[in-house]
Amino acid sequence: MSKKYIISNWKNLPASWAEAEQILDFTDDYLGSTNEREFSLVFCPPTVFLEEVGDVLKTSHLEHQSSLGAQDVSLKDGEQISGQALKRLGVEYVIVGHSDRRWRLGESGEVVNKKLKTVLANEMTPIVCIGEKTRDDGFRDFLKQQISETFSGLNSDEVSKCIIAYEPVWAISTTPGARPDTPESALESIRIIKEAFSTNYQLPTTRYLYGGSVTSKNVTDFIGQKEIEGVLVGGASVNKEEFVKILKLV
Ligand code: PEP
Repeated sequence: MSKKYIISNWKNLPASWAEAEQILDFTDDYLGSTNEREFSLVFCPPTVFLEEVGDVLKTSHLEHQSSLGAQDVSLKDGEQISGQALKRLGVEYVIVGHSDRRWRLGESGEVVNKKLKTVLANEMTPIVCIGEKTRDDGFRDFLKQQISETFSGLNSDEVSKCIIAYEPVWAISTTPGARPDTPESALESIRIIKEAFSTNYQLPTTRYLYGGSVTSKNVTDFIGQKEIEGVLVGGASVNKEEFVKILKLV
């Protein structure tokens, strides 16, 4: 069985580089103390720490066990956080379609689609967030529509290179009243997503993750499912003790 992914999405935290270093050092100490590392780790710091985190990841135990990820990419080369600039910094993964960008910043499906193409064009792996805002009667149709906009114009080979993170917006810790999804209902959504893909693509290598209020209390419920190939962890990944607790459970 392939390794599970742990995507650590720091969002706009921590507040200082000193705290960021502590998270990395604490994780590194844990990795150095164990041989049981059955996961691939991706750190997605805020852009302001991207270069420093990249430098730290080149050292000690983090080097073979973890990769650098970005939380966004510009639409075009030559703009602020271009795909080329990310690639130069050693970024291997880029989150696109995160709910903060879709819902708080109003990024349309068309924009997400263009960013996804930019990531692929620069030979990095897109981590594509898909998820409904509310779990109502229309959520299945909503997911299908979001997929069709997000992946428009991509061929099977390109979609196969993506990691899909099912992240229901209502489950993300910063959403008021958030609660984690259950593994059963996350699996139902992942199956809907797979089914939506299967009509247009053959996807032997696409990975499916779950994200939304993952902590050490529920991580095994999700990664214990064969069809959930990892987790995207936001808030809990900037608490060093909690994050290492999660790693110990994977
Ligand atoms: C996220 O923002 O992508 C996320 C999964 O956050 P949290 O784990 O804090 O719900």
